[in-house]
Amino acid sequence: MAFALPDLPYSGDGLDPHISSRTLEFHHGKHHATYVNNLNNLTKDSPLADKSLEQIITETAGDAGKAGIFNNAAQVWNHTFYWHSMRPGGGGTPSGDLAARIDAAFGSFDAFAEAFTQAATTQFGSGWAWLVADGDGLAVTKTGNADTPVARGQTPLITLDVWEHAYYLDFQNRRPDYIKAFLDDLVNWDFAAENLAKA
Ligand code: MN
Repeated sequence: MAFALPDLPYSGDGLDPHISSRTLEFHHGKHHATYVNNLNNLTKDSPLADKSLEQIITETAGDAGKAGIFNNAAQVWNHTFYWHSMRPGGGGTPSGDLAARIDAAFGSFDAFAEAFTQAATTQFGSGWAWLVADGDGLAVTKTGNADTPVARGQTPLITLDVWEHAYYLDFQNRRPDYIKAFLDDLVNWDFAAENLAKA
């Protein structure tokens, strides 16, 4: 069965004014869709076509001969996860177990926000910033290009796409302003809490 482009979990203008409908139109409708199409073409008539994205990612990670399949499968997974990492009216601070785990790992929410901002800012070129569950604790990490914590046995809780295509129409070169908008106004802590509960 072919992989499909999932719908956005909100309307096209749901993240206005921080991330515009024009950005989502290109980012979801063109970039994400292209990764899905590429993956379908690359896995057509292969045993991988019937596997889950997570299986394809873990089975092709580090295999230079399958880099194209890994990159497209990981980008399909990462983007779907990214859409859910945001919500209209998001941002602010988490509560409950997630808040306690963040305090335990980083000392405070502000220290987490600083570490996440640092990771997202310093990812050179294209990539992703993440909050993950790793063993018993939480950690901030960053990955280059399509790379994903899914390939490393970590459980992602939220992610931020820091490829320029994610923010250039709305913020041009101002990646720090995009990161601040994500943390202040967009991040979906309910989604992070759901992922933590499954970790
Ligand atoms: Mn992207």
